[in-house]
Amino acid sequence: MKAKCFAAALLSMAMAVPAYGAQAKDEEQYKTCQNAVPEYVELFKSIINIDSGSNDKAGLNRKKDFLVDYLKKAGAEVETLEAAGDRKGTYNIIARIHGKGKARILLCSHYDTVWPAGEAAARPFRMEEGRMYGPGAGDTQSGVAGSVTLLRMLRQMKYDDFDVITLFLNADEELGSEGALEQLLREAEKHDVAFSTEGGGSDGESVAISCRGGGDAVLTVKGKRAHSGRPHLGHNAGVEMVRLMNTMLDLSDKEKRTDCTWTMGSFGTNNNVVPDLATAHMDIRAASLGEFERVKNELLERASRVTDKGCTAEVAFSVGKPPFEYSKSTAILADAAESIYAELGRKLVKTHVPASSDANWISQKVPTLEGLGISNANPHQKNEYSSVKPAPDRLYLLARLIQETCRGNTVPLGAK
Ligand SMILES: [Zn+2]
Repeated sequence: MKAKCFAAALLSMAMAVPAYGAQAKDEEQYKTCQNAVPEYVELFKSIINIDSGSNDKAGLNRKKDFLVDYLKKAGAEVETLEAAGDRKGTYNIIARIHGKGKARILLCSHYDTVWPAGEAAARPFRMEEGRMYGPGAGDTQSGVAGSVTLLRMLRQMKYDDFDVITLFLNADEELGSEGALEQLLREAEKHDVAFSTEGGGSDGESVAISCRGGGDAVLTVKGKRAHSGRPHLGHNAGVEMVRLMNTMLDLSDKEKRTDCTWTMGSFGTNNNVVPDLATAHMDIRAASLGEFERVKNELLERASRVTDKGCTAEVAFSVGKPPFEYSKSTAILADAAESIYAELGRKLVKTHVPASSDANWISQKVPTLEGLGISNANPHQKNEYSSVKPAPDRLYLLARLIQETCRGNTVPLGAK
């Protein structure tokens, strides 16, 4: 319910923002971006060579110390926040630069990787034909190095037409961000817009305009236990569950990017007993809350249609991670990004991502655009890499998006 009101509010705000039209390339700014590439590569190399697997606390803290030091030297005000719950002993990093304008801009990235301790020694940074390899090269150290470089670049340019630019570096995105969630949402609430720096595409060609959320449904059927020698005295919960599951096989919707998949199930305790209990689990991925609602209603309706009237069925439905929906405000941000890329003579690809990211959470609170990393390929695989060539284009894209936002051309300012 809340999410719907929020979406409606965003829609009306977004309508009030003037459209942003095409402009000529800002040559001087592009030069600044090109000049920033060597320090970006050096920073990328440094962080790739420090292990930071989500479960490697010592490694995460080494990388945290390095990044905090680097950001302070770059002129940012930095704080570290201990993560919550099981993530105690790891830290999320918040760096801020302050200006004289109105816009409150949040940049998000995550510095944890999926790789265990020792991976950086086994597979250290290497550059081959303009591709940078190493643990996290494909997810998402280019986003970390890119956004840190950008903060430094904006400071060097003495650009200050914003109230604040906050960089949030999460230490457990790869585990679902449980340790960062509260802090992340608190920050999102305080900003006018969020740019998340996952992805970017192998040639820095893309931004992400939606990410699917995840939910699950548990179907429970209750029947009546009996000796299997006298099955007519019982009501077989297992058989009824299979019947019901068969009526629930058409809930996926390719066009709307919804997948409903039965993943686990069980019934019965002994081979000589008619089972009185059966359960099955469905994994649901969808790109909108409306789709989650549709699947939930269909499941409830179909579960009410048992064939064996001695059985009852119920469905417990929950959405774990909400979708980053393709909203009007995201469309405006993506259109602005497209126009900026056109200044460079490049065509921007707007992608709907099947997986999730922190954009799923952040977008519940603030207009969001995802996929603003420099470049990434083969995430979570040993042959992951990030290309250097698109780095100036991507720094330019992010810097110009920030400027257009500061001019009031993407989202309404001053509401926070
Ligand atoms: Zn990632």
